[in-house]
Amino acid sequence: MEDEGFAPFSAAARHEHLRSLPGETWDLLVIGAGITGAAAARDAAGRGLRVALVDAGDVGRGTSSASSRLIHGGIRYLETFEFRLVFEASAERRRLLGLASHLVHPLPFLFPVYRGGPVGYRKLQAGMWLYDGLSLFRNIARHSMLSRARLREEEPGLRTDGLAGAARYFDASVDDARLTLANARGAHEAGAAVVPHAAVVGFLREGGSLVGARVRDCLVPGAEPVEVRARVVINATGPWCDSVRKLADPGAAPRLRPTKGVHVVVPRERIGNRSAVTFRSPVDGRVMFVLPWGEFSYVGTTDT
Ligand SMILES: Cc1cc2nc3c(=O)[nH]c(=O)nc-3n(C[C@H](O)[C@H](O)[C@H](O)COP(=O)(O)OP(=O)(O)OC[C@H]3O[C@@H](n4cnc5c(N)ncnc54)[C@H](O)[C@@H]3O)c2cc1C
Repeated sequence: MEDEGFAPFSAAARHEHLRSLPGETWDLLVIGAGITGAAAARDAAGRGLRVALVDAGDVGRGTSSASSRLIHGGIRYLETFEFRLVFEASAERRRLLGLASHLVHPLPFLFPVYRGGPVGYRKLQAGMWLYDGLSLFRNIARHSMLSRARLREEEPGLRTDGLAGAARYFDASVDDARLTLANARGAHEAGAAVVPHAAVVGFLREGGSLVGARVRDCLVPGAEPVEVRARVVINATGPWCDSVRKLADPGAAPRLRPTKGVHVVVPRERIGNRSAVTFRSPVDGRVMFVLPWGEFSYVGTTDT
């Protein structure tokens, strides 16, 4: 095997990196190895910065392994006129389909329309052109409109009462945990010290400035925290963000208003869907998905 110039991403490397944490002043300490922290660490290390990335648990153990596994173009944000967001999300999706084609895959969606529903056939069609336009007509494929008869052939499990037709559009699915891990490995390969199972339990302050953190090895019961000095610290702890901020300032007011998402996972044969399907909740009209994942279907939304 060729010498790739870096030690394998392994338990031994974690041990070495843990020991190296107190040994220097890092350019950047990233707290949290979800997709945000892992990608920030990879990017910074790739630019030549000395980076340490720590996580209280395993890489991606938080939200980043429990998502709906979509690389969204953000079609539902068209309703709220967030065109810039859709433009950016479409560009990022294109980038990821190229950069991580082993983890990010095209996913066709059907958006059925029912007579008397909140989105009419013509409005949906206009939205689809806008969606394709905001991806500069470089999405996986352009949308198409399906007649009721065609839709019944393609997705026979749909309720047919009032069914007017559907749009087919493209998004992408991702193995979220593996994409996060790939970013952490990328950070490691670019020279970052990646240390899972190492929690930040406090911060270091000098003259009113934050100059690092106290990090405890979570694999050794009763381990004493080590001091890790850094010029810049990123708090990438997602839903734990406020509790980590409180370690630096116990009086810090919360900045997050946490939300919760629920997915119901059922054997796919129980629903019988062939594509991913977008629909509106009959209870409050919010957009929901039925997503195929191997033998299973996920039913739900990111915001319950
Ligand atoms: C139900 C649901 C579905 C979603 N679906 C999608 C989707 O389909 N597509 C999409 O793009 N986005 C989706 N999202 C959003 C996306 O999942 C999140 O934006 C993203 O995963 C957040 O990543 P993160 O790295 O910021 O946080 P997290 O992945 O939660 O990572 C935070 C990390 O911080 C670590 N940590 C906490 N405290 C400490 C500490 N003291 N010291 C060290 N480490 C610590 C945790 O162990 C954790 O690993 C969804 C979100 C939800 C809730």
